[in-house]
Amino acid sequence: MFDLKKYEFWFIVGSQDLYGEETLKQVEANAKVMAAEFAKDALLPGTLVLKPIAINPQTIRKLFAEANAAENCAGIITWMHTFSPSKMWIQGLAINHKPILHLHTQFNRDIPWDSIDMDFMNLNQAAHGDREHGHIYARMRINRKIVAGFWQDEDVRRRMGVWMRVAAARLEGMNSVVVRFGDNMRDVAVTEGDKVEAQRKFGWQINTWGIGDLAACYNDVSDNEAEKLIQEFSDKYEFAPNVQKGGEFRHSLVEQVRMEIAMRRFLEAEHAGAYTDTFQDLHGLPQLPGFASQRLMEQGYGFGGEGDWKQSMLLHSAKLMASGLSGGTSFMEDYTYHFAPGKEAALGAHMLEVCPSIAEAKPRIEVHPLGIGGKAAPARLVFNAASGPAVLATIIDMGNRFRMIINEIETIKIEQDMPKLPVARALWKPYPSLAGAAESWILSGGTHHAVYSTQLTSEYFKDWAEMMDIEYVFIGKDTNPECLRNELRWGEAYWNSKI
Ligand code: MN
Repeated sequence: MFDLKKYEFWFIVGSQDLYGEETLKQVEANAKVMAAEFAKDALLPGTLVLKPIAINPQTIRKLFAEANAAENCAGIITWMHTFSPSKMWIQGLAINHKPILHLHTQFNRDIPWDSIDMDFMNLNQAAHGDREHGHIYARMRINRKIVAGFWQDEDVRRRMGVWMRVAAARLEGMNSVVVRFGDNMRDVAVTEGDKVEAQRKFGWQINTWGIGDLAACYNDVSDNEAEKLIQEFSDKYEFAPNVQKGGEFRHSLVEQVRMEIAMRRFLEAEHAGAYTDTFQDLHGLPQLPGFASQRLMEQGYGFGGEGDWKQSMLLHSAKLMASGLSGGTSFMEDYTYHFAPGKEAALGAHMLEVCPSIAEAKPRIEVHPLGIGGKAAPARLVFNAASGPAVLATIIDMGNRFRMIINEIETIKIEQDMPKLPVARALWKPYPSLAGAAESWILSGGTHHAVYSTQLTSEYFKDWAEMMDIEYVFIGKDTNPECLRNELRWGEAYWNSKI
């Protein structure tokens, strides 16, 4: 679904004409070497485009104007090889709409102790030039990511790559749609929000379609078409005996696959990357789309249960960021706790809709009745989530701003069978502790819904929040809920001052 190469990242190296032709030629030659190596590196997934060396206000302004107009330009990387007086950059930065990464590096790793002279110093003075450059970003209150370190180091490139993936997701969101099949679940507060502000901030168009439109699309899909697609599942999923061909509940699976096909067609026609549904509005559909939603998430679509369009949009963005990385990313819901001393953990699941990309083993297709919704027993994929480090992220609407809440967690192996809970499950220990994380999350107003990922780290979501210029609250190993209470109050003053 995603091709990260289609996103361009413009590499703008700054200097000035004070040093003469020879120095500028060397700057350009070094920038070319770096750009060529960056372009080859799998850690940097976009397409790197080296631009002419920036040496005066006119060319700098023109570069940023061109970047704004370039549809595939997802972000701009700046680096000052030499000193580049920052007043030259003001007009360009003032009109810029693209995310910025300020790379703070230098071409040489080591100081050449025996040969170093003032010419070398003038040529290789990012330590000096990038401070002037950083000043103007700070002075103009421009959000940006700063990555400092030697440009050949893996960690520098990894952090640049994180930002690139996030910037690609931002650009994708600018031209994408969340299809809301029906409205939000009645009476629920946390799934609500300001869709106009969301479109202004994130670019996503969030609109409703009547469930009847989907039901009509569903009726156009035949059982045969669904059976044909089911043939592709044998390598990917196990089948409970009663959903195998001729089994008692085969028709439940066929219905889910018809819904999958219908929803995918619908989403493609609307250029949508994400959707929501709600069990309270399924008129004309035989079941809650469980297996169908699991399959669509696996293909990269964002999904939000009970009309939760914010998490659906975030999930699609996270799927794009995570494209090609090992692990999985899913819609998730906090369900219940294990409070046994020393073994505290949270059990996450959803009624049905958890993405099989996070499974530890082959998921199994099963059909069971659903306690709510009053529809037929839905087919779903049942599995346990793979263990390892993971992250939860959510977006809420605070009335005057969006807030992202991020929690680092450790997913652990589920030792028990839970035969009466035939859904996808994940069990995790959150940081700093179950109680500390729950108190912090609840204090921040976080929803019971989140995006769960073992492919991404908190750095991706922090970069995303910075890029979108929204608040983020980070809950990790060092979080103390009492300190967080103050942080939230300071944040209130900061965000109110920005309105
Ligand atoms: Mn839910």
